[in-house]
Amino acid sequence: MTVTPQTHQVGFIGLGIMGRSMAGHLMKAGYTVHIYSRTRAKCADLEAEGAVWHDTPAGVAGAATVIITMVGYPKDVEEVYFGPDGILGAVQPGSILIDMTTSQPALAQRIAEAAAEKGCEALDAPVSGGDVGAREGTLAIMVGGSPQAFDAALPLFQVMGKTIALLGPAGAGQHTKMVNQIVIAGTILGVAEALNYGQRAGLDLHKVLDVIGKGAAGGFQLNVLGKRMADGDFAPGFFVHHFIKDMGIALEEAERMGGNYRGLKTALAQFQGFAEEGGAEAGTQGIFKHYAS
Ligand code: NAP
Repeated sequence: MTVTPQTHQVGFIGLGIMGRSMAGHLMKAGYTVHIYSRTRAKCADLEAEGAVWHDTPAGVAGAATVIITMVGYPKDVEEVYFGPDGILGAVQPGSILIDMTTSQPALAQRIAEAAAEKGCEALDAPVSGGDVGAREGTLAIMVGGSPQAFDAALPLFQVMGKTIALLGPAGAGQHTKMVNQIVIAGTILGVAEALNYGQRAGLDLHKVLDVIGKGAAGGFQLNVLGKRMADGDFAPGFFVHHFIKDMGIALEEAERMGGNYRGLKTALAQFQGFAEEGGAEAGTQGIFKHYAS
């Protein structure tokens, strides 16, 4: 059954940089949204706007029949689905479970199997587009799972994103996200090195960005994150520690499939170095600082 505000109440677990904007869009679209996150205080504004707080993921699963998760790491995904107060212990038959966290393809497959045992469907639906895409409701959403579950959940995805595609069975969304992260790994390193070069050459970085951002080098990493580098704005849109997690998953999967990605390994080593210098909580554009000395 296609999801609408009349037929389904929505659960949303994990209300950080991405989740809070995404849940906000669902509320504005008319959905009743049941929420749980690790730190309740950070959800006060959503509660004030009408989101219904629950003390556990199981509480959310008891109240909603579509449940979206947007937590940090695969271990967090494990905890909210399989933990003692997890979703799978309380889920109602016929529910659709949607993990939008960037996580492991194999974990997405495990969730799909466990969901099927409970008479439910699961989709892995990681996103791209950053904090800006989440705020503006323009995310690219890459989905793995059955066509029936995808069709049913499509109206929800359309509230949060603009480009939405089913890429294959459970795990295919996460694999697609890894393709995305491999592109970004090389790209952001290139942007940081290029702007460091521009700085050393005495150029005005804003003027450089205005012109090359409209040429063949243009894109989110250069135009949005390159500008944040030039502005000296290193606040997190996408945390360095999450990017390190993603590159680790991509390398693990690549090695399992026989791929050996030198560029990705270089990017990971650079970001690990930046994290050791205290950059783990910065946004990924912070890698620019790594080239300062
Ligand atoms: P974030 O700000 O750290 O948000 C994660 C949220 O989940 C936080 O509110 C956190 O609680 C909560 N959480 C973590 N573990 C939990 C658990 N076990 N139980 C309940 N709640 C839990 O990170 P984000 O930037 O929104 O990213 C979320 C996911 O999307 C990550 O996997 C990231 O890699 C991916 N992603 C991020 C971006 C981006 O640009 N930011 C883009 C695409 C994909 P606390 O508030 O207590 O920390």
